[in-house]
Amino acid sequence: MSNIQIAIDGPASSGKSTLAKRLAKRLHYVYLDTGAMYRCVTYLAQKAGVAAEDTPALRDLVDQMDVQFVTKENHQEVYVNQEEVTQVIRQEAVSREVSLYSALPYVREALVAKQQAFAQKEMGVVMDGRDIGTVVLKEAQLKIFLTASPEERGKRRYLENQAKGYSQQSLEEIIEEIKRRDDLDRNRSMSPLQPATDAIILDSSHLDLDQVEEEIMKLYEKCLK
Ligand code: C5P
Repeated sequence: MSNIQIAIDGPASSGKSTLAKRLAKRLHYVYLDTGAMYRCVTYLAQKAGVAAEDTPALRDLVDQMDVQFVTKENHQEVYVNQEEVTQVIRQEAVSREVSLYSALPYVREALVAKQQAFAQKEMGVVMDGRDIGTVVLKEAQLKIFLTASPEERGKRRYLENQAKGYSQQSLEEIIEEIKRRDDLDRNRSMSPLQPATDAIILDSSHLDLDQVEEEIMKLYEKCLK
């Protein structure tokens, strides 16, 4: 078996993590949710009152952070420093500030090193994020840049939140939040959100999850040949 890496990048709520999880399950690869790692930094910093600035306090927090993923039948649980944070890191308070923390070079360097070390020991890995194809897994055999209009992404996130029963945000607020986060992620100086030159761009605005999954599987089979 060869060492295969699949990188899925794209803007907020484009369906990256759902697809990455589906692919990992189907191919028996491991999945790494890199966004959850940036969310964990944000959560810990907010809890400790550490601002989104490159300070010794923030560096200590990043250096001491231990993130673990526990795979269950249909979902993955996230633990940071042994606290279960699966739900809390998805909430609005974290989503609103995560792009401020993720733009800091110290934070990025530390998390990218962990992500690369993780990929190195696995035979097959699917990773999703913003800089996987451009920085973390530059040699990945398959790079997908998954996108959709902000309105479509907002609608999907709104319905998902309603189904989970944990959002007070209106559809308009969610679309604004998505646009703001995309803007910060695209315009930061280090590893901005952009497709790798060898990435395949998939616009899922008019496709459902099954269709996107099949499209990616076709590309995967092609890249194995
Ligand atoms: O993917 P998710 O929406 O959970 O990512 C949360 C945030 O983490 C993004 O908006 C971005 O600021 C940051 N991120 C990043 N690089 C990654 C993954 C996420 O900068 N590889």
